[in-house]
Amino acid sequence: MTDSSDLLFNQPVIVEACEEFVQRDMLGIKGSFPGLLQDAPMSSTAVVNGLSQQLIYQLQLIVPDAFVSFDDLNVDLLDAAFPYVQTPAKQALQRAIQDRGQTMQVNSAYRTIAQQMLLYNDRFNNSNPVAPPGASNHQTGLAIDIEDARGWEVYLMRYGWYPLPGDPPHFDYQGGGTIDLRSQSILAFQQLWNLNYPNQKISEDGGFGPQTENALNRSPAPGFSKAPWDGKPRTLRLAMPRMEGSDVLKLQEGLKKAGIVVGADGEFGPATDKAVKEFQQKKGLKPDGIVAVKTREQMA
Ligand SMILES: [Zn+2]
Repeated sequence: MTDSSDLLFNQPVIVEACEEFVQRDMLGIKGSFPGLLQDAPMSSTAVVNGLSQQLIYQLQLIVPDAFVSFDDLNVDLLDAAFPYVQTPAKQALQRAIQDRGQTMQVNSAYRTIAQQMLLYNDRFNNSNPVAPPGASNHQTGLAIDIEDARGWEVYLMRYGWYPLPGDPPHFDYQGGGTIDLRSQSILAFQQLWNLNYPNQKISEDGGFGPQTENALNRSPAPGFSKAPWDGKPRTLRLAMPRMEGSDVLKLQEGLKKAGIVVGADGEFGPATDKAVKEFQQKKGLKPDGIVAVKTREQMA
């Protein structure tokens, strides 16, 4: 039996039990574990939220416009689910949702290699197979796990999203026009690691071997001190999973300097959203809570 990813990338994919992972992420723990990935508790994959956000942004720098959020579609998202897919997959998802005219409950989509590492480290406590980082469909940017899968099936299949036999909530996009994001996902990590540890460089080959596995396990769960947004600022807003990192902390400090009361914890929650809107109003900007170029300019 082949699955979508075999067809797309000529590389074997391990069929995982997506439902098991979703059960853990339903714990909905917020904020990163303050230590190395290898020491993080195996609870929700949100314990590597900070590192995951850096990996996603680095990946977006590698493949601009090819890997996008779909949280603007008619979807309900689980807290720890990163709502990212490749652009053609998003367009197809949008059409399927429009056709049915209902909200889609999405429990998982893109899984970073940090999240996958966490699951893989815990593989012996699992009754079902766990793929090593880079070998899961959830690193393709072409996968979703949803509720009411059988109800959605007919709509999704119209546009190239197919169910995966043996994994009931899971669909893969096979509509074409996509790239192998799994090796790019690993490359994003390798680049970030080398940026932060120039004396312990690993090869930037997009492959997952012992060297990369070891480095990933020794990476800080809240993210590296040199972040990908240091060079090219990330657009900040209230999102799920919560945006977290040095850029959020810097924003909060800027808001405080502007005389707005807000906690500086490096996590973009509802209080930060409210503070940003207050700041925007003060500066005569549209109070949309989205921190991009215009709002940043006013903060300098
Ligand atoms: Zn899945």
